[in-house]
Formats: sequence, structure tokens, C-alpha cells
Amino acid sequence: MVYEHHVTSSSEQGVVIVGGGLAAARTAEQLRRSGYTGRVTIVSDEMHVPYDRPPLSKEVLRKEADDVALKPREWYDENDITLRLGAAATGLDTTAQTVTLAGGTALGYDELVIATGLVPRRIPAFGDLGGIHVLRSFDESLALREHAVRARHGVVVGAGFIGCEVAASLRGLGVDVVLVEPQPTPLAAVLGERIGELVARLHRDEGVDVRLGVGVAEVRGQGSVEAVVLTDGTELPADLVVVGIGSHPATDWLAGSGVEVDGVDGGVLCDEAGRTTAPNVWALGDVASWRDATGHQARVEHWSNVADQTRVVVPAMLGQEVAPTTVVPYFWSDQYDVKIQCLGEPEATDTVHLVEDDGRKFLAYYERDGVLVGVVGGGMPGKVMKVRAKIAAGAPISEMLG
Ligand SMILES: Cc1cc2nc3c(=O)[nH]c(=O)nc-3n(C[C@H](O)[C@H](O)[C@H](O)COP(=O)(O)OP(=O)(O)OC[C@H]3O[C@@H](n4cnc5c(N)ncnc54)[C@H](O)[C@@H]3O)c2cc1C
Repeated sequence: MVYEHHVTSSSEQGVVIVGGGLAAARTAEQLRRSGYTGRVTIVSDEMHVPYDRPPLSKEVLRKEADDVALKPREWYDENDITLRLGAAATGLDTTAQTVTLAGGTALGYDELVIATGLVPRRIPAFGDLGGIHVLRSFDESLALREHAVRARHGVVVGAGFIGCEVAASLRGLGVDVVLVEPQPTPLAAVLGERIGELVARLHRDEGVDVRLGVGVAEVRGQGSVEAVVLTDGTELPADLVVVGIGSHPATDWLAGSGVEVDGVDGGVLCDEAGRTTAPNVWALGDVASWRDATGHQARVEHWSNVADQTRVVVPAMLGQEVAPTTVVPYFWSDQYDVKIQCLGEPEATDTVHLVEDDGRKFLAYYERDGVLVGVVGGGMPGKVMKVRAKIAAGAPISEMLG
């Protein structure tokens, strides 16, 4: 499939990418790899060159890594990519084709790529008490680490992937951790309760106090947090709180631009090639809600998805052939020594076949209407990857269990 409109290397303003994360860096890289020699500008509100986020809740927090840059700064010079760091986009005019930056500068574009990722949710009732953290950026990871090395009692609010990883890393730093989750298990909404129970077991075996089916009512303290009160009335001592209750798409700067966002989920609405509802404007990564082959809009908050989308959006922007591929979605999460991996599109409502469980490591197939739709493994990398072709082929579950 080839799209009619496209940018050429001689277009005057070139491609402006708003956002300074994985999607921005990969898009710029793919543009150059595809032979585009026109202007490429990355506009980021952060001062760091684009960096990788998965280590922020793992190696960086555990003090095992500090350099998370996706590419060294020189790479951008060598590839003639302009980095405008510390420059937040505050507005977009899709008629004049300009992005407004904080301070008022207007930056023209021929093609605009929205890659602004997510903003972590906070709990307004917690106010501005010290010692309460969220984790999305490198600076937030460093601040959390700096606090964690002198903290004793940590409460992690929310047992999604980031909450679970932070709980594991805090344990590694010797902090006593309580993990609080209103759902019946960790990761229940993504992987279902059967696998969620195995994840809870893993954390309990590592000494985490996992409190399920209960929420957080309030925090107490003078200037800095001293206690967390749960909705069942329990008061937990806490000198460190991490809020991991999800994030929402960073789209405030698009208000009034004509770029439509999903009314429920807030993601930038895109077609199956990343084209938004405004001309010459594209979106990818965590902020974008792409249409799939069935017409369904979905936003994916996983690392591998960025590469999958870059391989589509860049050729589409350049008017090049988009090679048809079968993508089997993938993500991972490292908790202690266990790498949890997920291939395919399992849903919490699928039938789960737990085919291996040694008390710590496990392997499960997810079935929908008799078909294998996903595999989830804990500490089983080879066995997870082996199932890729079967998922792509829509193999009957009986083939896997026979
Ligand atoms: C702590 C953590 C751990 C993770 N671990 C895993 C993992 O183990 N496995 C996995 O599959 N995925 C993981 N992920 C998810 C993965 O990192 C994301 O899918 C990926 O970072 C998405 O890239 P992105 O470029 O879309 O967004 P981001 O990486 O969030 O980049 C967005 C960038 O845009 C900037 N920005 C926002 N608004 C503006 C504005 N108005 N103007 C200018 N710039 C702006 C932001 O500051 C940021 O630099 C993790 C994410 C986090 C936060």
C-alpha cells in the first residue's frame, strides 16, 4: 500500500517530532535509514537526550545503571537531527502548520509526529506531602532511588507492571515494602487473576506484604509522609510512597488543534498507519491509539510496539511501500530474577491453561474460542518465544495441549 501525500527531502520545514522518548528517537532513525535527507527536528520538554524507560524501574532504581540514552548525543549531530531539548510544545496550529513552544516560538513543519507519551496519574488527595513519588522519567527514577536508599518503610500503591517492578527493586535496596492493590491480584486487568496470583506469590516469597482488594484512603505526615491509611482502616507506617496507578496520554498541548483524541482513553486517534485526523500530522507510541485491521482503536503502552509502528508510519510519511507484516505483540517485565514475558494479545477474560509451574517459574497459554491467542511465561524465555509462530497462525489450543 502506498499513500499519496508524502514529504520529500526538499520540503522546506521537514519533519518535526514532538516528544523526546523512544518513539521520537526511533522515528528520526528510521527516517534517515529510509533515505530521507530533509530536516528532522526533535522537540522535547526534557533536558536529556532521548532515553530508554524500561531500566528506570529496574537497573537505574537498583543502582546498576545510569546511562540510559538510546543514542549518544553525537549520533544526532552525525545524522543531522536537530535536538531542541527543554522545549515543551504548548500548542499546535494545523492550518498554519506550526507548533508553539513554551516561550512563544513557532516552529513550522511539513509533517508533524506526535510522540509525547504519557503523564503518570497522581492522587490529588495526597496533596504535596514530601516522600510521595511517581515514576515515568529519568529524573523521577533518580529522585526515587536517592530517597529509597535511606527509606525503611515503602508503600507502593498499584500492582500494575510499574508498581510490581518498583516493589521488587525496593526490596533489592533493603526497603520493607507493602504493595497495595484494589483488584483481587496484581496485573489482574492485563493477565487475569490466575497468573496474577502467581505474581502475588512471587512478591510474597520475596518478603513483600501484598495487600489485595483494598485501596488507599489517605496519607498522614507533617511535611513528609509518615503513614498510609488503607480503605479497611489499617494504618501502615511509611516514609516512602510510590504511586503506580497508570498514566494518561500527554495531549494537553493539542487542545483546539483539530487533532482528535479518544473520548474515553484519551489517546490520539490514528488510522492503521498512524495518520491522525489533521492533515500531515502523525502519532505513534504510548500516546497514540491506532486503528487495527478489525477497525478497533487501541493504545499500546509497550516498548516493542514503538518499533512495530515506526516500520509503518515512516514509509507511509515518505510515500514508500509499507511491507505487510504479521506483528505478534510482545512485552516483558523484570521482577527479581524472573522475566515475565507476554506474546500475543491475551485478555483477562481468556481461558488460561497453566502448563508449567514450579512454584516460581510458570508458563501459561491463553485461549479464546478454542484458539491460542497468547502465551505468558515467568522465567521461561525460550518456551515463550517458541510459541510465536503458533500465535501468528491462530493455532487451535488443542495443538498446544495435546
Ligand atoms: C518505568 C517504566 C518501565 C517500563 N518498563 C517496560 C518494560 O519492561 N517492558 C515494556 O515493554 N515496556 C516498558 N515500559 C514502556 C515503554 O518504556 C514505553 O512503551 C515507551 O517508553 C514509549 O515511548 P514513547 O516515546 O511513546 O513515550 P515516552 O518514552 O514517554 O516519551 C515521551 C516524551 O515526550 C516528552 N513530552 C511530553 N509532552 C511533551 C510536550 N508537550 N512537548 C515536548 N515534549 C513532550 C516526554 O517528556 C518524553 O520525553 C516502561 C515504561 C516506564 C515508564
